[in-house]
Amino acid sequence: MAQAIERIHEDTVSRSWDQSEAETAALHRRLSDEYGSLNEQDMLAALTEEEFPGRSAVIASFGTESAVLLDIVASVNKNLPVIFIDTGKHFEETLRYRDQLAARLGLTDIRNATPSTALIRRQDRDGTLWQSDPDACCNLRKVLPMRQAIQPFGLIITGRKRAHGGLRSEIEMIEQFGERIRLNPLADWDASRIDTEFTVRDLPRHPLQAQGYTSIGCAPCTDPAAVGGDVRSGRWAQSDKTECGIHFNADGSVSRGDQQDRNNRNQAAA
Ligand code: SF4
Repeated sequence: MAQAIERIHEDTVSRSWDQSEAETAALHRRLSDEYGSLNEQDMLAALTEEEFPGRSAVIASFGTESAVLLDIVASVNKNLPVIFIDTGKHFEETLRYRDQLAARLGLTDIRNATPSTALIRRQDRDGTLWQSDPDACCNLRKVLPMRQAIQPFGLIITGRKRAHGGLRSEIEMIEQFGERIRLNPLADWDASRIDTEFTVRDLPRHPLQAQGYTSIGCAPCTDPAAVGGDVRSGRWAQSDKTECGIHFNADGSVSRGDQQDRNNRNQAAA
């Protein structure tokens, strides 16, 4: 699968998405009015092909539920960029599953977003930042690479669902995400529907699912789900942390990531 990994197209990378938040707010209202009643596949096709041609990308974790969204994406456009945030801390099983799934679905443009080696050397030389400061580690290994990777795109597509609870319980199918639009085609899907779609579409499962993992992120921060716990109960199970931060700021307001971003830039400039 190596040919599909790390492909970055110069034509899109060289042009950052440039639109004000006020313009995006108006666009969000129009898109919600025009497309809000479509089913997930038609909505995805309309937004990627008619509203954001060449400016759309999927963010996928290649976790236990990713295959359904990616199958829908593949049915619309197999060449749509799919961004995988390769933190350097993933399970080997996830990396193999990414390659297997991309090949199976025929996805041609999987983009590995990796952390800055200079920042890693400076902030996490021994690779244990996740233990001492997981927010800083997520910022370094997830938030900053994601922000870099989405620069060219005005439409970001995710597999987030309200059924995951917590901060996700109020998400909309079409959202404003700062200067961008975020599409969550499966926002109102529950675990039962996801499970059914895996069967109907004959999709391969993440290999760790059989071991009790229901939501899968980096290896040091992911456990099998707690007995009776929700789908994300195995994430950062030893702390009260529930999100890595890449999805913060639907309203574009300042977040921990923004502050960390400024700190990083200040340090780099020092
Ligand atoms: S999930 Fe854990 S290892 Fe991965 S970036 Fe966040 S703190 Fe670091």
